[in-house]
Amino acid sequence: MRLKSRLSLFFCAVILVGSAASLALVRLTTENLFRSFVYSGDASKAKIYAAILGDYFSMNRSWDGAQVFLSEIPKQVFITLDKSIRGDRVGQRDGPIAAYPYDTIRNLLADRIVVADLKGIIVADTSGKLLGTVHPAMHLAHGFPVTVDFAKVGTVLVGSMVDSSLTGINERFLASVSASILWATIGSSLLALLMGLLFAGRVTRPLAALNSAARRVAAGDLSPIVETRSNDEIAELSLSFNAMTEELRRLEEAKKRIIADAAHELRTPVTLIQGTVEAMIDGVYPLEISTLRSMHEETIRLSKLIDSLRELETIESGELELELEEVDPLEIVRRAVSLFTARAAAKRIELSVVCGEEPGPTLIADYLRLSEIVYNLISNALKYSPDGSRVRLSVSSDRACVNSRGERGVVSIAVDDSGPGIPKEERERIFERFYRIDRSRAQDLGGRGLGLAIASEIAKAHGGRIEVGECDLGGASFVARLPGR
Ligand code: ADP
Repeated sequence: MRLKSRLSLFFCAVILVGSAASLALVRLTTENLFRSFVYSGDASKAKIYAAILGDYFSMNRSWDGAQVFLSEIPKQVFITLDKSIRGDRVGQRDGPIAAYPYDTIRNLLADRIVVADLKGIIVADTSGKLLGTVHPAMHLAHGFPVTVDFAKVGTVLVGSMVDSSLTGINERFLASVSASILWATIGSSLLALLMGLLFAGRVTRPLAALNSAARRVAAGDLSPIVETRSNDEIAELSLSFNAMTEELRRLEEAKKRIIADAAHELRTPVTLIQGTVEAMIDGVYPLEISTLRSMHEETIRLSKLIDSLRELETIESGELELELEEVDPLEIVRRAVSLFTARAAAKRIELSVVCGEEPGPTLIADYLRLSEIVYNLISNALKYSPDGSRVRLSVSSDRACVNSRGERGVVSIAVDDSGPGIPKEERERIFERFYRIDRSRAQDLGGRGLGLAIASEIAKAHGGRIEVGECDLGGASFVARLPGR
């Protein structure tokens, strides 16, 4: 089922349940209020009856004839009315009813009246139904006591005190209140439903746009950009989607560039080897050992390039398995210096190590991979610095800072040189694959633009990074920052 239909159905269900509950609740409350209103009216009537019946009891000294007295009340009322019209004095002789104003008496006529004696026996009932029966004390407690000379002689119950079911006009009143509530509920439910449907439309429209954009991306079209008009969660989702397609586009472009670069890098040596071999086969070139040796060197460079590409791929795809152990970076740096001493000497480059505290900081790393970073940085410093330059290696740690993994201390391995340095605008790009600042010069020096990309990926795999800047020697400063122990 579509989300819009599900949302609409859900709104309907909530509205129905809410309406039914509020209708039931309002009806119950109204009914209770109405009953208590009716009861309070009956109670004030019972008070008058109690006074009339008290007078009756004091005249007769018993409840005998109370049933007849009650049934004759209408007659008494008419006599009283008649006398009032004629202007006669109404006195004691006219019976207890005569002392009360006509309007009060007329109001009383419509109700059922029940009188119980002290034992709870019904001695009078205008409907005649309960006459002679014993009424439970619990029910009589709702009634009004009839007293003569401050002594209770019986109980009178009027209307709702006898029978709690509402009658005639009361029931009609309650029904009309319920009908009004029902109509109000239906009206507001329809309004709520309409608004719910509008809301469901508002929610599902951007989702539909996202869905069609996602389908296009799945089909390989990375161009769709989803519009965002609000700043709610769906707009956030759209923004994340746009960021995702942007990243996919960037990766796609990078992939294309890498393939193009790799093809270009491989084409030159392959064409060279192919041309030379063909020339030898055709007898254009003599089959000399020196030519074969240079071709062999070319194939070695090719296989190195392929190895580097594979290595980079392995690291970037997260397949690189690090053999972590406790490593002393100072030891790696000293080893590297001894390995590169001959190469430095050939260019009359002064290669030095600056050691801070001893023993130096340690870190958990893959020894060989960490060495690869250091060798790469030294090799570049020696390669790109002119004869007679200086290259300085140092290890330091910042124990006060906490790295992203929450471990304390960052160990920095720096390789500074007095060479040409890296222009500010190139500092980001030199870590990209096949990127060389001066392409032809770097190629002359045997550079393929992969060394820093590999070193940077190894540092990332260790939870660190490589930063590039300038140093006091005047050239470039490469610093590998890695989480310490
Ligand atoms: P390459 O194999 O070409 O050396 P790298 O990825 O190691 O590739 O380096 C990328 C580019 O960065 C190099 O081509 C060079 O232009 C520049 N570079 C790297 N190290 C230094 C340095 N110490 N001094 C000057 N330029 C450098």
